[in-house]
Amino acid sequence: MNCARKFKAALMGLTIGLSSAVTLAAEKRHSEAHVHGVAEINIAIEGSKADLEFRTPAESVMGFEHEAKSESDKKKRDAALQTLQNKMNQMVLFDPKLSCKFSETKTAVVEEKVERSKESPGKTAHELGDQKKAGEHREVRATSSVTCGKPLAGSRVTFGVTKVFPEIHEIKVQVLSDAKQSGATIKKDQGDVRL
Ligand SMILES: [Zn+2]
Repeated sequence: MNCARKFKAALMGLTIGLSSAVTLAAEKRHSEAHVHGVAEINIAIEGSKADLEFRTPAESVMGFEHEAKSESDKKKRDAALQTLQNKMNQMVLFDPKLSCKFSETKTAVVEEKVERSKESPGKTAHELGDQKKAGEHREVRATSSVTCGKPLAGSRVTFGVTKVFPEIHEIKVQVLSDAKQSGATIKKDQGDVRL
């Protein structure tokens, strides 16, 4: 094998290695998704602006995940979405020195396709079919953007999610900027994340 071919082979090996690592990470993220009591917050920063995404199982904010058909369920759903809309700026807290302003928060209930429920691992396809009818999973998603008076990089963010929604005891935070990608797990609003 000549030098160029060796290099090409090594490069191919590297490419395959990288793409399977990415796939693995994506699978891992997927299998971690939709755990009752756990929320995900994604923060994408660019200069003095940030886009926020908040996601959590519907059960953790409205107490159920079936489609809201009764008046009382609809009330619970609307109240939860209203709270999310009003309190995004109390759940994700930027440094007051940056004087950040939140845009209007958009909220939605999204159906989550979960093939194998965390609560009942090892069920057969038949049982899963029944379960799908009996208890499907839904998530609540909220998005907002933030405009600040100063660049966000290097500042710290704290959280008030458990304070607003006591059922949520853990949040998985992902920070994305051109400079870096980092993640942290926050339990019961304790600790902070550096942007
Ligand atoms: Zn669920």
